[in-house]
Amino acid sequence: MSAAPAPPVSAVRCPVCQQDNAATAQFCIHCHAILIRRCPKCWHEQRAGNVCEQCGANFALCWETALERSLREEDRVQWAKFGAAAGAFVQILLLPFTSLGGLLRALVARLVAGRLSGR
Ligand SMILES: [Zn+2]
Ligand SMILES: [Zn+2]
Repeated sequence: MSAAPAPPVSAVRCPVCQQDNAATAQFCIHCHAILIRRCPKCWHEQRAGNVCEQCGANFALCWETALERSLREEDRVQWAKFGAAAGAFVQILLLPFTSLGGLLRALVARLVAGRLSGR
């Protein structure tokens, strides 16, 4: 097979609003319609069709699950962030008590030690 020639730099007409877009545009600059369909499974790009020309994946089905997964992931990240922030917040709140507790413990230990040695 001979090397594939560079793709011609031609405008892509939006099928929805007939706006001319750059050949590399993924979305119409005018109506934001999808101009390139990228397979979520094999990342093959094609201009039309709802089924991947390369691996046969159904785009609608795949994007739905991909979207769901990314949403769940985002949720998880948000909760992790919240948990870390809450943990830091609680630590700051408890800081006076924990340091005070340590101080008290040291004081009590010193008192006990003093009483023991004084006897
Ligand atoms: Zn358009
Ligand atoms: Zn594919």
